[in-house]
Amino acid sequence: KKAQQEERRGLPARTRDGHTVEIGANVNRPDQVPVALSQGAEGVGLMRTEFLFLERGDAPSEEEQYQTYRAMLEALDGRPLIVRALDIGGDKQVPHLQLPHEENPFLGVRGARLLLRHPELLEPQVRALYRAAKGAKPDALLIMFPMITTLREIEALRAVCDRIRAELDAPAVPLGIMVEVPAAAIQADVLARHVDFFSIGTNDLTQYALAVDRQHPELAAEADSLHPSVLRLIRMTVEGAEKHGRWVGVCGGIAGDPFGAALLAGLGVRELSMTPRDIPGVKDRLRDSDLAGLRALAERALDCESSDEVRALEGDAS
Ligand code: PEP
Ligand code: MG
Repeated sequence: KKAQQEERRGLPARTRDGHTVEIGANVNRPDQVPVALSQGAEGVGLMRTEFLFLERGDAPSEEEQYQTYRAMLEALDGRPLIVRALDIGGDKQVPHLQLPHEENPFLGVRGARLLLRHPELLEPQVRALYRAAKGAKPDALLIMFPMITTLREIEALRAVCDRIRAELDAPAVPLGIMVEVPAAAIQADVLARHVDFFSIGTNDLTQYALAVDRQHPELAAEADSLHPSVLRLIRMTVEGAEKHGRWVGVCGGIAGDPFGAALLAGLGVRELSMTPRDIPGVKDRLRDSDLAGLRALAERALDCESSDEVRALEGDAS
């Protein structure tokens, strides 16, 4: 029975009519990789590197970061690893960095904005990543940047990557961005020209689209990623990416919800990354579906008047 279950988890998330969605795990440490693989992960779609900084009293050196990325790649044995550059600020505070207090950190210097103001954080991380890429299979390592709002940020980050890559004589690494600010979703067709892939962070995208603090104790239920406005932003992101032949993943919480995953696949999302324990349910759901049915479901959801109405579609989803 257990062997059967393991075998099913290892099957791809392929719909009955042959459409495959890549399934990644959100994993932050090398020792978590074996568990993710046993749940059926095909790679790591989101490594939140804040955790390298949070689980200790000081910043990890370039060398320590390099060792960690290498260990991740080794544990993954050639499967893809998407490393997200440090995403500090908002709900992710790192006391030992002693960054200035902000009145409104979710709208402040966080993510890419912080990286661009702190080369002493950005550059060792990028160096560690390109060093790790030198020993990795081509395209096994991908880098993505958090909280991108404007093209200028992409250009500035890419310039740092290009310089460091040249200094190290390292191979090219696919560069992607998190789409989690509505401006990036709306302008996805422009940004797509300048990056290799998008990964939608639906937790933040929802918070910024609906103006609901993602941690607000009273408003948690209203921060609903299935709100039609959020789904429309996801659709815009996919359309913008497709214009330039880029793929779109989702690494926020709804990727791990079977119904959310069905909707996302119907919206044209090609990769879903989630907490390892959510993988078997999502795979089963997609394997029980037809792409045509998922697309029809997504079309209906985009036209819904509320997230309740979207959820009510769950019963008749195929
Ligand atoms: C997100 O915002 O959806 C996301 C995946 O990033 P984080 O939760 O780390 O902000
Ligand atoms: Mg986020």
